[in-house]
Amino acid sequence: MRALAVFPEQRKVAVIEEDEPPALGPRQVLLRTREVGVCGTDREVAAFAYGERPAGSDHLVLGHEAIAEVVDLGSEVSHFQRGQLAVPTVRRPCAAPRCRPCRAGRQDFCVTDEFLERGIKGADGFLAELFVEEEQNLIPVPPGLAEVGVLIEPLTVIAKGIVKIRALKERLPWEPMFEKALVLGAGAVGLLSAMCAVSNGYDTTVYSRERSDGERAAYVRAFGARYFSSVETPLADVGRRIGLDGPFDLVVEAAGFSPLTIAGLEVLGPNGIAVLKGVPGLGPERAIDIDRLLRGLVLKNQLVFGTVNAGRSDYFDAIHLLEALVVRFPESVRQFISGRYPLEAAPELLSKHQGIKNVVRFDGPSPRMGTLGRERAS
Ligand code: BGC
Repeated sequence: MRALAVFPEQRKVAVIEEDEPPALGPRQVLLRTREVGVCGTDREVAAFAYGERPAGSDHLVLGHEAIAEVVDLGSEVSHFQRGQLAVPTVRRPCAAPRCRPCRAGRQDFCVTDEFLERGIKGADGFLAELFVEEEQNLIPVPPGLAEVGVLIEPLTVIAKGIVKIRALKERLPWEPMFEKALVLGAGAVGLLSAMCAVSNGYDTTVYSRERSDGERAAYVRAFGARYFSSVETPLADVGRRIGLDGPFDLVVEAAGFSPLTIAGLEVLGPNGIAVLKGVPGLGPERAIDIDRLLRGLVLKNQLVFGTVNAGRSDYFDAIHLLEALVVRFPESVRQFISGRYPLEAAPELLSKHQGIKNVVRFDGPSPRMGTLGRERAS
C-alpha cells in the first residue's frame, strides 16, 4: 500500500510502498483512509525541524488529521461496524506508572513527555491507504460530516480550550462580561477559533499578517468577524480603531509567533483569559519587557494558559462544534477545505503553504480535486 513518509537521516519526503497491515488483534480495527489534513506541524516534520520516527525505523509515516472508513474488525471490537466513519485520536500514553494523566486516559496532559503521537512523535501516522488502530483510540463520526470530518482533529484543540474557559468562568460568583475576543493568526486553528467565538456571541476580531484587502480577510468578514493586518495596523491601535469600549476579554493565540503573543497579552483586559495554541519554533533568544508583562498579569487578575492535543471527550465536543458550524456558517465551512489532492501531491503540499486547509484524499478523484497551485475552493 502507498504511504507518505519522512526520512530524517536522508532528508527525504517520499511516497513509499509499505506492507499491508498485519492480522488484527482482538480489539483492533482496520481502516481505509479517506482524507488527511495537512497542518503546520506536518510541514515542520517534513522540514526535519520537529517530530521523531518510530524506534527501529528509518522513516515516519506522516499525517494525524484523518477521517477513515472501517473495513475490518478484531473479534472483540464492539462499538464499530464495517463501513462506519471514524477519526483516530493522535496521542498514545507513556508507560510510566507515576504519570497519572496517562493512567487516567488523558495522555494529552502527559507529565513525562514520553507519549507517542501518530504521525508526529515515535509512531506512524495516517497518510497511508490503510491503517490499524485500537478501538479505544477511534471516535465514531456521523455520516453527515463525511465531507468535513477531516476538520474534527484541529477542532479538538479548540474544544479543549473551551472546556477550560467555561470551567474558569463558572467558578466566578457573577456573570462575567465576556464579550470581546481577539484571535491572533488566520491559519486553520485561528479561523476555526474565530468562527466558534462568533457563534458563541463574541464580538470577534482576527489579527494576522495577510493584508486586509486579501482573500483571507474577506473570508473572515464573511462569517461575521473583523479583520486587521499586522502589516498595516499595530495591535495596540486595533481597539481604538474599532471603537471598542475597553480591551479584549479573551485572546486566542493561534500563530505560534512569540512577539505577537506578547503584544496580545498587552491588549488583554482585567480578569481576561488568554489561550495559547500555536507552538513557537525555537529560534534565537528574544528580549521582552517581562516586568511590564507580569505586572499586568497580576494587577489585572489575568489568566494565561497553553493547551495542546486533546482527550476523547474533546473529540466528541469537536464533533458537536463542527455540526454547529456547518449549520451556522455553511458556506465558510465548505470553503475551509481549500484543496483536495492525491497522495502523490503530498510532498509538494508539505513544502509550501497556501490556502486554508489542504487535504490529501485517498478514494480517487473528487469533483473538487485539482492541481497544486491552481485549486481553489469554488
Ligand atoms: C496536533 C496535536 C499535537 C501537536 C504537538 C498538533 O499539530 O494537532 O495533536 O499534540 O501538534 O505535536
